[in-house]
Amino acid sequence: MPNTNKNIQQTLVLIKPDGLKKSLTGNILTKLAETRLCIMGAKVVQVSRELATCHYQHLKDKPFFGELIEYIQGKPYGPDYQRVMALVYQGNDAIQKVRQLAGATNPEEADATSIRGAFGRITTKGVFENVIHASANPEDAEREIKLWFQPEELVTDLYPTKTVTSSPKEVKVWAS
Ligand code: UDP
Ligand code: MG
Repeated sequence: MPNTNKNIQQTLVLIKPDGLKKSLTGNILTKLAETRLCIMGAKVVQVSRELATCHYQHLKDKPFFGELIEYIQGKPYGPDYQRVMALVYQGNDAIQKVRQLAGATNPEEADATSIRGAFGRITTKGVFENVIHASANPEDAEREIKLWFQPEELVTDLYPTKTVTSSPKEVKVWAS
């Protein structure tokens, strides 16, 4: 009998500002489609300093932290590229499948056929400009997905939700 045990996972993918600047969005989505994982949410985000700092909180003591925050905000690339594309994928072994396609963190060490190996570089300031973020484990994935997406931005509730009454506040709507 074939082993049909499934390990359904979610993972956060960010196409980083260098990926947008290099027009790699379509290429990366095509590569990720090879995994046959399901897209559960997708959006373009202008990354605030606060969001960047929260996302990379585990690296806050590293000497390259300041550069890393500027990088994920797209600061070096001009206003048109101060954004990332954020996606949530779900499916069997999603985390490992996407990390495999992404390749090693250091683009010089990444397999040449991986996304980072093919398209990444090390900047003159020493930052690994590696085109894509992918969650490293289920704990990171849950934390990162909850940081980047609200429940209503995902097609199903990937984690338990609750309903709260928010105090009246002004929201922007289309003018006509
Ligand atoms: N990074 C870097 N230099 C390093 C380690 C990390 O520039 O020595 C950057 C790189 O862009 C990486 C990000 O910081 O993708 C987050 O680092 P992490 O160790 O979490 O690697 P990842 O999970 O992205 O492979
Ligand atoms: Mg990481």
